[in-house]
Amino acid sequence: MKQFKAESKRILDLMINSIYTHREIFLRELISNASDAIDKLYYKALTDENLTFNQEDYYIKVSVNEETREITISDRGIGMTAEEMEQNLGVIAQSGSLQFKKDLESKEDHEIIGQFGVGFYSAFLIADEVTVISRAEGSSIAHKWHSKGADGYTIEEAGLDHTGSDIILKVKESTEDEDFDQYLNTWTLRSIIKKYSDFIRYPIKMDTTRSELKEGTEDEYEDIVEEETINSRIPIWKKNKRELKDEDYENFYQEKHFGFDKPLANIHLSVDGNVSYNAILYIPESRPYDFYTQEYEKGLELYSAGVMIMQKCADLLPDYFSFVKGVVDSEDLSLNISREILQHDRQLKLIAKNIKTKIKNELEKLLKNDREKFETFYENFGRQLKYGLYADYGQNKDTLKDLILFQSSHEDKLVTLAEYVSRMKEDQTDIYYGTGASADRIKKHPQAEAILEQGFEILYFTEDIDEFAIKMLNEYEGKNFKSISSADIKLNEEDKAVNESNSDLLEKMTAALAGKVKSVRATSRLKSHPVALANEGDISIEMEKVLNAMPNADGVQAEKVLEVNVNHPVFETLTKAQAEDEGKFNLFTDVLYNQARLIEGLDLEDPVAFADNVCRLMK
Ligand code: ADP
Repeated sequence: MKQFKAESKRILDLMINSIYTHREIFLRELISNASDAIDKLYYKALTDENLTFNQEDYYIKVSVNEETREITISDRGIGMTAEEMEQNLGVIAQSGSLQFKKDLESKEDHEIIGQFGVGFYSAFLIADEVTVISRAEGSSIAHKWHSKGADGYTIEEAGLDHTGSDIILKVKESTEDEDFDQYLNTWTLRSIIKKYSDFIRYPIKMDTTRSELKEGTEDEYEDIVEEETINSRIPIWKKNKRELKDEDYENFYQEKHFGFDKPLANIHLSVDGNVSYNAILYIPESRPYDFYTQEYEKGLELYSAGVMIMQKCADLLPDYFSFVKGVVDSEDLSLNISREILQHDRQLKLIAKNIKTKIKNELEKLLKNDREKFETFYENFGRQLKYGLYADYGQNKDTLKDLILFQSSHEDKLVTLAEYVSRMKEDQTDIYYGTGASADRIKKHPQAEAILEQGFEILYFTEDIDEFAIKMLNEYEGKNFKSISSADIKLNEEDKAVNESNSDLLEKMTAALAGKVKSVRATSRLKSHPVALANEGDISIEMEKVLNAMPNADGVQAEKVLEVNVNHPVFETLTKAQAEDEGKFNLFTDVLYNQARLIEGLDLEDPVAFADNVCRLMK
């Protein structure tokens, strides 16, 4: 007896023992595996001359035996060798197990099951014993995998006179709480197949029995067994939108394991023209746990005339829409095209371009018609759109600039750039933004005060990428973006005069802070704070922080300007010290400069010296 890997064992336990309301999904999972197995053989036959694909063999058979309590799902697909059984049926799919570990502590049993693509293991939702008899394509012997659940499994040689797999489930006995007998009922199984697997391309066949009057008799009946195809076999993406309900799209999303959530929106496309294709695309409701990691793989399932040729075709999606899931089917693509050639395929490029536009339009529609939904979407994937603005030297800015949102001082809501511009005051030339760890921090920023007081709106940039993305955008509807801590916000006449009259003091401060700031200047835009840092040039203080946090940082520095509030009582103290005690003046200057750094969220260059200086002042 071989043991399951630890996590798999835990899942099997759940599968067997928990009360779960969606047990019927076992059939969807097993039929989907059978269909994939036939696809694999079909695809292989297309590219391998020695293989023939016998059309009649390609169906999935579901049979029931009430007496032995067995359901069998058979296919003549690619099959599995003993090693493949070991690999595929001994562990839960990798991606699932990661998610599992993370969620295990916080979730109820049934939530966990619902969360993953449980796949093959879902057999244990209704069976207490599972047998897989399989013969791999190209192999002359078959093997039997057998398991009674969490204890482990056995693999031994077995007989099967053709390539393919039989999955045999021994259905659990009904209990007081749960009715398992229903799964032995042909009609129940038929309706489950209709509900979840109707679009499967291969026929799903079941035997149905009906009674018929025996010929030549008047009251004797005989059972006639007939093989019947249950599914309509039309792929959902080829169906008419009007015939489909939300539920159908949701079922398809689940059946494809696009996510463990529900789709937030779907896009069903039937395009004819330069290039023809059908597609169903989804925007997930929640963010995959690995979305912002290297592991996440974007891509759409690609079909050519109904046959899957690639599970994750990355070329169909730009990176900034990498969250989109779905299938694309086109008859314009050659079936046995190799994956390398596919990358350069003209048709594929056309489809990708078309899909990009459709996704953009759908998102714009969502933003316009269902703001709440869009904001849910944006919370999950907005960062990806902003990366998109920044990436590729900003080539995609026209696609994306109207889809990005920022927190703003206007009612503390998320706003679009268009909304900001529509509210701009007559004398306002720039779009103001502030950067910081949170909206709250930015709001309290010394330099925000004056701008807010004048009734200007400020966009709050709270993510690392924000300012970089905006720099790439450069302008919006002819309006430039201006950081509230930028030193080139124009000084007014009054400020100029104040700078003149205090030039001596300001120069002394600049000298005391040589190498740390470029200059010190007086400004009236500070209200209740004595000092703040501003920056000159392209690199803002926030960008300095982000760039220096990167692994290959090379000590980029923003050109800093220390701004001093001449109306603050502290300024008087400074003036006095300048006249009386140069040591004290330098000490004050240093402490004020470091305060300004702290307010900016910058580290102190020498925390110990700062602490000592504060103590010296208190003594
Ligand atoms: P998934 O289908 O998501 O990969 P499953 O747990 O359902 O996960 O199946 C694991 C693997 O077992 C499949 O990827 C496939 O390689 C193999 N498998 C399952 N059922 C069959 C089958 N009927 N024929 C051939 N291979 C199968």
